[in-house]
Parts: sequence; C-alpha cells; structure tokens
Amino acid sequence: MHCVKLIDKNGRIVIPKYMREKIGINSEEEMDVLLMDDIEQIVLKRREARCAICSSPKNLKKLDNGYICASCAKRISELI
Ligand SMILES: [Zn+2]
Repeated sequence: MHCVKLIDKNGRIVIPKYMREKIGINSEEEMDVLLMDDIEQIVLKRREARCAICSSPKNLKKLDNGYICASCAKRISELI
C-alpha cells in the first residue's frame, strides 16, 4: 500500500483510515516512531502492549487505555 500525504505546519501526518483499519490501530494508541537515518526513512511501528507499571509484555489485562499485568494487579489488590 502506498499514498502521498502532506505534513502540516506542526509536523503531523494523518495515517489513512484504511491503513489504520488494516492493522487494527485505534485512536489514542501509542506508536513507536523510528528514524532510519542511514536510509533516510521514518518508520511507524505498532507498539507492543506492556504493563503500565513494570513494562512486562506478559499476562496483560486491559485497563482503560492501557494494560496492567497480572502480577502488578495482584500487588495493587494487596494494598487495598
Ligand atoms: Zn506489571
């Protein structure tokens, strides 16, 4: 897939809806932006879901717009 987009005066680009839908990107989702300066390209990469507290990618539970792992969820429940 390919398209041409104009960068606005604040440096923003809108990712076409059909591309977002194709790989399931939702609004308010964090993306990694990689500068590949050796080949003069910028790559957007879907960020791997991680626990908001310990950054573990394992045993995640969705919490609002982020994730928390089962271990951190258990530690928090023990504080209450
Ligand atoms: Zn965690």
